[in-house]
Amino acid sequence: MAGFKAILVDKSEAGYTAKLGEIVREDLPEGEVTVAVERSTLNYKDALAITGKAPVVRKFPMVPGIDFAGTVEESSDPAFRKGQKVLLNGWGVGETHWGGLAQRARVKAGWLIDLPEGLSAEEAMAIGTAGYTAMLCVMALERNGVAPDQGEILVTGACGGVGSVAVTLLARAGYSVTASTGRAAEEEGYLRSLGATTIIDRAELSAPGKPLAKERWAGVVDSVGSHTLANACASTRYGGTVAACGLAQGMDFPATVAPFILRGVTLAGVDSVMAPLERRRDAWTRLASEIDRKKLASITSKAGLEDALRLAPELLAGKVRGRIVVDPN
Ligand code: NDP
Repeated sequence: MAGFKAILVDKSEAGYTAKLGEIVREDLPEGEVTVAVERSTLNYKDALAITGKAPVVRKFPMVPGIDFAGTVEESSDPAFRKGQKVLLNGWGVGETHWGGLAQRARVKAGWLIDLPEGLSAEEAMAIGTAGYTAMLCVMALERNGVAPDQGEILVTGACGGVGSVAVTLLARAGYSVTASTGRAAEEEGYLRSLGATTIIDRAELSAPGKPLAKERWAGVVDSVGSHTLANACASTRYGGTVAACGLAQGMDFPATVAPFILRGVTLAGVDSVMAPLERRRDAWTRLASEIDRKKLASITSKAGLEDALRLAPELLAGKVRGRIVVDPN
């Protein structure tokens, strides 16, 4: 029986390994739906899974890949039929259940959504979990009443996947976007092309700061955590909202309650992995209609499975710009 190409992560006495391998249909995990993967992607979490830098993989051997888009090949669930285009993000896929960095994936029917109308597999994976999380952050700001006329929105980790999509979405929605980056010198043009109006050096936010700073942001999308998140909260305006989704600087949150109890700031946590289906569908429907296709193409680079192995440490080192789409075929 012909095999399928896949990245395989393993852990043994010899150490942690990630390499290009082959899987056969019989190896695929249990699930109602088998999908021919057209595109996957490399997110921060996939880079952690490939390098072993953090224990995101819970079972070995594992096929990483928290995202994929493809075509249903077999389904024992009536909700999906052969030939249907589908999309998956999260649910522990690529962590506890074999994921999308492979030519085939078998998953639970309840984890899949239809590929949104008007989006190709390539575009969906250019967005990927990073972009879908950026939309969840925008929706969290909106739910808390942040509107374009209220002032500047700060996006941290702006050149990364979440950050690049967040800048694009917010600028299109009419917000005035300040992008915080460690690559201001090289990437100012890139960030302005996505719609950022102001660029700041991330060093302004990444060191220990005061409990309260001058009020500046009406809202924040933070993919960085640690001191950056603490300083972002401290400089958020009265009644503003900070959407926190990431930990690129660190998992710690060395803050005080001052912004919350003295300025009524809301800290809105954003999780993409276990987000309920209805919210996912809303986010993806909006992405399909609101993402600027030209800007999406400009933030995306393409890779194969082998390239993904090489790019994973670069991504964790903050050297990758925007999003990487992986074609496993
Ligand atoms: P990327 O690696 O693409 O982007 C992260 C960006 O953060 C980098 O490009 C860099 O931006 C900035 N950064 C990196 N290291 C540091 C540092 N030490 N200090 C300050 N800034 C730093 O990752 P993604 O965009 O895919 O993911 C971003 C974060 O969001 C990750 O922590 C990820 O785990 C999390 N995430 C969470 C999700 C959820 O469900 N809550 C879903 C998706 C992602 P620049 O060069 O511009 O400074």
